[in-house]
Amino acid sequence: MSATPRLYVEGALEAGGRLELDQAQSHYLARVMRLRVGDVVRVFNGRDGEFDAEVAEFGKRAVVLSVAERRRVQESGPDLWLLFAPVKKSATDLIVEKAVELGVSRIVPVRTRWTNAPPLRAERLQRIIVEAAEQTERLDLPEVETEASLENILAGWDASRVLFFCDEAGDEPDAPWGGRGVRAPDIASVVAREGTGPAAILIGPEGGFAPEERAALRENAFIRAVSLGPRVLRAETAVIAALSVWQAVAGDWPSKAPQN
Ligand code: SAH
Repeated sequence: MSATPRLYVEGALEAGGRLELDQAQSHYLARVMRLRVGDVVRVFNGRDGEFDAEVAEFGKRAVVLSVAERRRVQESGPDLWLLFAPVKKSATDLIVEKAVELGVSRIVPVRTRWTNAPPLRAERLQRIIVEAAEQTERLDLPEVETEASLENILAGWDASRVLFFCDEAGDEPDAPWGGRGVRAPDIASVVAREGTGPAAILIGPEGGFAPEERAALRENAFIRAVSLGPRVLRAETAVIAALSVWQAVAGDWPSKAPQN
């Protein structure tokens, strides 16, 4: 990891500009990193790429940076959304952090029948997203939607985006929740078949999806039910596994350089 601090800022960035940091970032640079005037940091705002910046001044209230050269031009990752049902707080935090690291472009919290976590706090999520983006070197921040019901999300879905429904249950008509046999096809082969277009991954809550939700999901032409293997995973593990497979098969893990 680079030792140069990398900060997300909200203001516009251009070479020669001045930037007053907020209280938390000022504290971090002054007290935690113990930077001095003239020390270099990196800043990005999700829109204008990434710039070098120098500590210009330790003001009474805030550290002021002077923005230098642009180091990276703005870019964004693949068009991949994560839909997940909020779980308990630490697991939700983990899901959001890992989703940012794994390059999702949008995070959509979904309330399902068996979701029993309290509503998400947008501010807390935003803090996790910013920290993960700073750490992981990405230039764009994923958007977070306000929590909505599964029903409403499906009703408003743009059918040109494939929705991979991670479904651990099987298709035994007489078994509760679909049983464990006859699983959905494995995620890697389904993603490979769909290719690199706009995609979303849906992961359920701890208790999984209710039988009527599974049925409703499968009725939509844009849904692909997929399996993450024979073991039932915790929601947070399922998120990491599914996003990783998608990125490896259809996303930006494969090198753009010619293969030999
Ligand atoms: N209903 C299950 C647990 C659900 S696990 C039970 O209590 O027995 C939480 C979510 O992770 C599921 O809704 C599903 O979206 C995803 N998931 C976990 N393991 C999976 C697997 N092997 N294949 C596909 N999805 C899985």
